[in-house]
Amino acid sequence: MYFMEKGENNMNQNETQQKKITIFEEQNETLQKIKKEGFVKYTGSLEKLSDSFVLKDGAIRCIDEGTPGGMHSAGSGILRNQSEVVDAFKNAGVTEITSHDGCGAAKLYAKANGLDESKADEYGKKWSEEIAKQLGVPHQHISASEMKRPSEFHIARTVYYDGTGKFDFGEGKELPPGFIISRKIQTKDDSLKETEVALSIAFGHHGFSDLITDENPFILVAIGETAEDTERLKKELAEVTHEYDKKVIIDGFTAPSF
Ligand SMILES: [Zn+2]
Repeated sequence: MYFMEKGENNMNQNETQQKKITIFEEQNETLQKIKKEGFVKYTGSLEKLSDSFVLKDGAIRCIDEGTPGGMHSAGSGILRNQSEVVDAFKNAGVTEITSHDGCGAAKLYAKANGLDESKADEYGKKWSEEIAKQLGVPHQHISASEMKRPSEFHIARTVYYDGTGKFDFGEGKELPPGFIISRKIQTKDDSLKETEVALSIAFGHHGFSDLITDENPFILVAIGETAEDTERLKKELAEVTHEYDKKVIIDGFTAPSF
């Protein structure tokens, strides 16, 4: 029985790895083009770029690439100070708080607080419900089947470090799927901490891990409201890339004015 289970696990692991490789290779065409041209030139050629800067709704969602739309903070703020989170969300005009299945941030929260990591999603849900209650807005839990990524692993090749608070990569075809951190509505320190969380997920066993190389690097994308803003955000990101060497590069572009 033990061996059968072990065998099944290995088979599942191989299947997952194959699925990862397939998706990674499918993404390479766009990613290589972006790496060669840079985000400024690449996004300049996209006809519907302005559609990526229209807020779908006023909900707070996780930075997880499986939960695009609205504004984003890791685990809906679970790694941050609660009263600061409530104030920031109030100021941003947030209309709904969400939690989701398989939340990496909730897992880190459980670990940091000595709680049962297998119950991480329950803590994530509880946190989001509490924030929603304090704001007087509804809470919604996003199930794995509603998420825009496979439930077994992450498909993000980028972190969008969003200084506009509106960015969405859409269907993930022209703009690769990535973690989205709404730098607009949170401090530099919290945003950089969440960038590090995203990197640890991408390079961990739930992410593309060692498929990410110097040739196929992970990209941190600064998105500013002005060119100066974009440059400032790029400088901030340079504070968290050291340990990854050439496997993580920094790029950026400025939101179209419209
Ligand atoms: Zn999450």
